Amino acid sequence: MSSLVDSFGRKHTYLRISVTDKCNLRCFYCIPHDGIVWKRREELLDFDELTRVARIFAALGIDKIRLTGGEPMMRKDLVKLIAMLSPIPGLRTLAMTTNATLLKENARLLKQNGIKQLNISIDSLRRDRFQQLTGRDEHQSVLDGIKAAIDAEFETLKLNVVTIAGVNEDEILDFVHFIKDESINVRFIEFMPFRNNNWQIDRVVTYKELLEKIAGEFELTPIDTEPSAVAKDFAIKGHRGTVSFITSMSDSFCSTCNRIRLTADGSVKSCLFYPPEINLRDRMRAGASDAEIVEMIKYSLALKPEAHPPAEEIAALENRAMIEIGG
Ligand code: SAM
Repeated sequence: MSSLVDSFGRKHTYLRISVTDKCNLRCFYCIPHDGIVWKRREELLDFDELTRVARIFAALGIDKIRLTGGEPMMRKDLVKLIAMLSPIPGLRTLAMTTNATLLKENARLLKQNGIKQLNISIDSLRRDRFQQLTGRDEHQSVLDGIKAAIDAEFETLKLNVVTIAGVNEDEILDFVHFIKDESINVRFIEFMPFRNNNWQIDRVVTYKELLEKIAGEFELTPIDTEPSAVAKDFAIKGHRGTVSFITSMSDSFCSTCNRIRLTADGSVKSCLFYPPEINLRDRMRAGASDAEIVEMIKYSLALKPEAHPPAEEIAALENRAMIEIGG
């Protein structure tokens, strides 16, 4: 039972840990157009610190941890960290989100060491467009990574597609075709505003628009999901794969939010769009006890807002960029 309950009665059971702010792609919607200052190695939590914080969270009722970034596979010896985290008592699911550029050789190793659920980000099935979007010619390595992930048989395999008007909305049906014969869930994510990421309201392709487009060609049936799920899920007639929509902008799911975040430099962030953070790293390095860390985590949660503001207001917030927070 989680003792991480915020002021609005929401129980928190899911922690997203960013293990690095570095990424080998330059997706324009994730990294600010004026760049970021990369953290120095000593600014990041080391593996013992990450494991300690994860243990404290698990003792408070966190039963699922997702590793993210930046690109988590850019963190040296990531598999060692996974092996340190997976036996933590109370932790039922260790998951990861990756751009899959470095996955081909590592998919099995990740699974063997404890990653159960894997999400892969891919916003275009076209090599030239992928390069435009990410600034790198890595399309084939991502496709190879997806193939390796299928072969490794993770408990769940999902593809994240950020859908942006005028960029990749013409590929929506291609993605649905792509998962016809594979037990993969493709998730269309509404474009979210972060610092200097070229966000505009009219670039958001909404859930309603996506659903209409897909339902025009495929027969969709809603799938029941857990109350805290962020996605609206659908089975597709004749498909092994399923399709989902993350409606962060058009229909936010704050009332059932069960997530809390830890940035690579050791700050607890209670909400993706709420700028204030509580830094655990410096207090840990100054000798804080576990009880003090628990107090800081609970304080962060007590500040968590009931809901995030409307999209246009979020865009004006002095929040960190997605690549710095960990999506
Ligand atoms: N590097 C890894 C990856 O590419 O999956 C993990 C980190 S990335 C920040 C996590 C997810 O956040 C990706 O699926 C990415 O597409 C998504 N993301 C980043 N910026 C976003 C934005 N502005 N709106 C919606 N999703 C975004």
